[in-house]
Amino acid sequence: MATEPKVWVFMPAGAQNGPSGRPQCEERLDLLKDRRTKKAMDIGTGVGEELKGPANAQKLGWTPDWISGMPYTVHMGNEDLSELFRAEQENDNDTQDRFWGTIEWLTRLQPLPLSVGLHGARLASPVVVLDDRRYNWRVPLADLFALQDWHGEIIQKIRARGLVPAIETVAPSQFVGPPLYGEDAVWVPMTYHEARIGAHPVDLCYLRDVYDCEIWVDLEHLFFGLNFFNQEANYAWMSEGLSKSPLQCRYGEVSNLAADGKPYSIAGLFDKDELVRRVGYAAELGWPPFSPSPMDMSRAIEMMSASHLHVGGSLAEVVDILPGEQPPPAEYLEGIEKVLAPYPGMLEETRGKRVGSHGSIYRTDKKLEGRLRVALANGGKTFLVETSGLTPKDCWYWAKEDALEFSFFELLAMFGKLLT
Ligand SMILES: [Zn+2]
Repeated sequence: MATEPKVWVFMPAGAQNGPSGRPQCEERLDLLKDRRTKKAMDIGTGVGEELKGPANAQKLGWTPDWISGMPYTVHMGNEDLSELFRAEQENDNDTQDRFWGTIEWLTRLQPLPLSVGLHGARLASPVVVLDDRRYNWRVPLADLFALQDWHGEIIQKIRARGLVPAIETVAPSQFVGPPLYGEDAVWVPMTYHEARIGAHPVDLCYLRDVYDCEIWVDLEHLFFGLNFFNQEANYAWMSEGLSKSPLQCRYGEVSNLAADGKPYSIAGLFDKDELVRRVGYAAELGWPPFSPSPMDMSRAIEMMSASHLHVGGSLAEVVDILPGEQPPPAEYLEGIEKVLAPYPGMLEETRGKRVGSHGSIYRTDKKLEGRLRVALANGGKTFLVETSGLTPKDCWYWAKEDALEFSFFELLAMFGKLLT
């Protein structure tokens, strides 16, 4: 006899065809027939779906009937808000119509999705130089405030249509790859800083509290972001040099520094406290942004108290390729060389390293278990499996072929333990 679920594990599903030749959003339902799923449901774990890229699902004729009564969330395209922001600046009506057309479609679904998740937009920034300067802040702070308020407008417009908007944690340290180097570029095991909305818990809490949206916590993105702003893990090397950063030195002494080091005339409006209050970190042109009061994962999860979370099994963004692990395929190495061609020195930095994100989930992962406990104690209800399956010629050449299925069952097992 099934009990009312206390938590729900969500499967990601897009409109593209999976291995069986059927669309993922149909194919992934096969997981429900597995005895491990049935067993988990018997002890209080529900199952749901996250629809990825709704524009394509709309073309396919997807409706909630396909998942017969399961709860679901919708994940808009990763670049949708960045694109929408650009489209508004450039009067590109087609892109704007496409975005709002998809939102309109969502308002007609019955039942409605629990929430509609969006990645915060990035600020268009000057070309990045791929040396140590790639982590520096490159945009006027006023632009960041304006972009944050623009998110507020979008949140309110989506809410006015009867949907629940959610902004997701994104990493401020983006992999070198497609957004900057073109659609065909490969994802290189190397990051750079990108100013965008949703990179710090404070940024998201500001949007939630001022404009009324939900927060989706992607545990991997959150961890990468905190590492970056705290200058830990992949970014521990920064703290040495950065202790000499003028802003970090002056922090606490000067009250209204602007990005260019001069005080703004509107007293207090754009001062460092205003920035820290609104986005959680301090920044000045030409230096990496940093967290004046470092935050750990538990505090961050607690602060955001998200009901929907994305779960992956990665330990860091960039990791060492270990002996016995799959070596990078030649085609992928060529792709990396192409992206880094203008920066011969940087190629060396990627040797022996691989992209670590979206790794498989293991029930034995104590760190993840601890984070899930904190999430459950702070309103966590639905948990999406966010892992990447094997893509032989690109950055996930090392992944398990059945990473999604494997991780789904591992997460079910983990909750089985957490709930009993
Ligand atoms: Zn996402």
